[in-house]
Amino acid sequence: MSTRTLTYLSSLLALPVLYVLFYGIHVSPQGHAMEQWLPKWDRVLVLFVIVGLERLYKYRYAVSQRYILHRDIIANIVNLWITGAVVGAIVLPLLYFLPEHFLGRKFVIASPAELGPFWFQFAAILLFISLFRYWMHRMQHMIPFLWELHSYHHRVTDLKASNGEVSNPVDYGLRNVIVFLILGVIGFYPAAILLAVPVATFTAVFSHCGADIKGGVLNYVFVTPEVHRWHHTANVPEGRGYSVNYGVEFAFWDILFGTYYLPQENGQVIQPERIGHPEGLPDEKNYLKLLLVPLGLYPPFGWLQRLPGATAR
Ligand SMILES: [Zn+2]
Ligand SMILES: [Zn+2]
Repeated sequence: MSTRTLTYLSSLLALPVLYVLFYGIHVSPQGHAMEQWLPKWDRVLVLFVIVGLERLYKYRYAVSQRYILHRDIIANIVNLWITGAVVGAIVLPLLYFLPEHFLGRKFVIASPAELGPFWFQFAAILLFISLFRYWMHRMQHMIPFLWELHSYHHRVTDLKASNGEVSNPVDYGLRNVIVFLILGVIGFYPAAILLAVPVATFTAVFSHCGADIKGGVLNYVFVTPEVHRWHHTANVPEGRGYSVNYGVEFAFWDILFGTYYLPQENGQVIQPERIGHPEGLPDEKNYLKLLLVPLGLYPPFGWLQRLPGATAR
């Protein structure tokens, strides 16, 4: 077998093997124990594995993101360890309070056994997470204020391990935190949540892998890097509205709702030549701007200058 064939075959196998590997170590008792004292340890491990893949399987349209690495590191720290806790502190009380007042608690919070058998809950959780994120993501492209927040994720000029979490925390929280809070409130078996959530999470993380690894048939089920690159294309294919491939973990929602796009030529998947903001805006190096500009809070304390009489002084 030639080296080229071997490289191609291994680039096809990389994704399924890594999906299974990281899922396995996350749900294993040891992995679970690690998570207790070092939260998100496996996400950090995935990042390093993806960096390795990016060096091994060079992508033909790769654009270096090294000049912006500091921004990526801050965005990872904020969205992996801070955003969830802050959004939870704000949204969880509301999630408990609103149903209690408007519906009566018992309609919303069931006992786990009332929600069906374990396997059914596992499947329902996966479908619920992915359907919620598909539509939230689609709205983040359609509604101007949500797009203002989300557009910072679309300013990156290549998909890399480092920039999967580059998002304004409000944008990130709407898509990636609220859905899990709702899940917790509904009252599924905690074990079903613990087994289902990593399937969605790891697929989403691998979607930003910048290596030339192939999705193969997985392209029709999961949001692989080949699928997600088209979501980030600088030139949205004609007649496709705001964007294509809105799925965060599963591609079949896009197939079902008519937003799937993955062109092929001679049986090979074609990839967009340029990734970036659809209106040509450059990437934002300054994390403080990414954080505050879409919320109208930049420059910091700009509101001081807007106070009556502030200009006279
Ligand atoms: Zn998007
Ligand atoms: Zn993305």
